Amino acid sequence: MRIVVIGHGMVGSRFAQDAAARVPGAHVTVLGREDTAPYNRVLLSSVVAGKQDADGIALVGPDVEGVDVHQGVSAVEIDRSRRLVTASDGSVHRYDRLVLATGSAARIPQIQHVANPDGLVHGVSVLKDLADARGILEALPKARRAVVLGAGVLGLEVATGLAARGLAVTLVHHADRLMERQLGSSASQVAVDSLARLGMTVVTQSSVVRVMERRGHVSGVELANGSEILTDLLVMCAGTIPETALARRAGLPCERGVVVGEDLASPADPAVFAIGDCAQPPEGGTGLVAQGWDQARRLVDAWAGAGAAPRDDAAGTDRTNVVRVKASGLEVVTMGLSGKFEHGDRLLRAVRISDPAVGRFVEVVVHEGRLVGATVVGDKITATELQALYTRGLPVPTDPAHLIVRPIAGAAPAVRSAKDMQDDDTVCQCNTVSKGRINDAIADGCGSVEDVSRATRACTGCGDCRSLVKEMLATAASGTKVPALAGTGEA
Ligand SMILES: Cc1cc2nc3c(=O)[nH]c(=O)nc-3n(C[C@H](O)[C@H](O)[C@H](O)COP(=O)(O)OP(=O)(O)OC[C@H]3O[C@@H](n4cnc5c(N)ncnc54)[C@H](O)[C@@H]3O)c2cc1C
Repeated sequence: MRIVVIGHGMVGSRFAQDAAARVPGAHVTVLGREDTAPYNRVLLSSVVAGKQDADGIALVGPDVEGVDVHQGVSAVEIDRSRRLVTASDGSVHRYDRLVLATGSAARIPQIQHVANPDGLVHGVSVLKDLADARGILEALPKARRAVVLGAGVLGLEVATGLAARGLAVTLVHHADRLMERQLGSSASQVAVDSLARLGMTVVTQSSVVRVMERRGHVSGVELANGSEILTDLLVMCAGTIPETALARRAGLPCERGVVVGEDLASPADPAVFAIGDCAQPPEGGTGLVAQGWDQARRLVDAWAGAGAAPRDDAAGTDRTNVVRVKASGLEVVTMGLSGKFEHGDRLLRAVRISDPAVGRFVEVVVHEGRLVGATVVGDKITATELQALYTRGLPVPTDPAHLIVRPIAGAAPAVRSAKDMQDDDTVCQCNTVSKGRINDAIADGCGSVEDVSRATRACTGCGDCRSLVKEMLATAASGTKVPALAGTGEA
């Protein structure tokens, strides 16, 4: 089976490896526009913040034969009647099945003078790929001030990262509160106060309307209210738009993304599929990598003859929808129901504490004895506890207030170390890798985090679990296997 994959990003690269490894008789060709090996895009804001080296975010995976990668080559045309894809280097690729994994593009808001015929004005950037991150890093030595447009997750990560590098940062946001899709007003206000303590200026209910430049470089911006801010950098974090141009030209139905059914095939062509950020499945696209990886897994399962695999969220509550801001000096985590949500006809119990003086806000939402939502600002321990309860769907105390008070009082068993975890506890939330599986990989000879990633894919998402895997490796190297908690049956 000749499979052509367009896009060699986080989802396309994983799909190509898995299809070549598991689909009988598959030969996989990948066309990837970026001139680099696939990398962990999620960590680009950590690169800008200086917490991660640009060369250190390559995506490691299993070594697989049967994948033919054309790096730095774009697909320019799809001829569906002849099942051919033409690439920018003139090569033509025949397919039996075509998988679109073209991701998304950064949205560039309507701003006067933001670009000239050569592209964005110098000092103005988005953060979508490694080239953008490198461009921002190059500009840093001469920059003292920055304006970040957009206070969604990415905007907060970029703003706090630049502030941690010593720049005077102004964060400009169109809505009346930060991360308005995830946070309510009180939680947002606590986050705003925390940003102010980090030395940042936050301007809400406004936007940048004009870029001012001096000698070809940005020198300031004008806001909608007429005020002007001097700046050496403008980073636009105003959302993303699924990359659908190629699919539209090929006559495939597209709305916000490339429309696909439950089986991830286009309704107009059973030989064409779309996965990742470019796809618009029936439940809607989330723009999060977990959804794309789940789609890649389901497509490979179906083609490998394992039958139609259910979605990760098919059982009802989607327990992967955890949003964590990877920010320097600001802890914001939301999961499930958060911000302004509808109660519907469910009997939900919501309990919250808000303590702006110390920069803490916690809200938990409980339904039928399970945690179905939480918002945490400024409290890492509580966030870790709640995330473990939420993703594993564990029963919670009858009085939801205990969920907030116990971790704060230090009474809950904090999951901060691998030795506090049971064998079936999930260490890597992004790839659903359990402690037991990592211990098995270490026992099979994996001696470094990279080895463990190659064998299990742990640590290839947000990277939060890296310290736990390091701890397990160190414990194994010292001769003692990281034990499971009592009661799991493990010696
Ligand atoms: C800075 C940043 C931080 C993020 N943080 C998080 C996070 O914390 N958690 C989370 O879940 N998600 C996060 N995301 C989103 C996450 O990165 C995406 O969900 C994920 O990358 C989607 O994978 P994809 O393969 O669909 O698209 P991408 O990774 O964007 O890859 C698409 C690839 O296709 C290529 N391409 C496009 N058109 C063509 C063509 N015609 N021919 C050939 N190649 C083409 C593109 O150049 C690109 O390399 C973040 C994104 C960014 C930019």
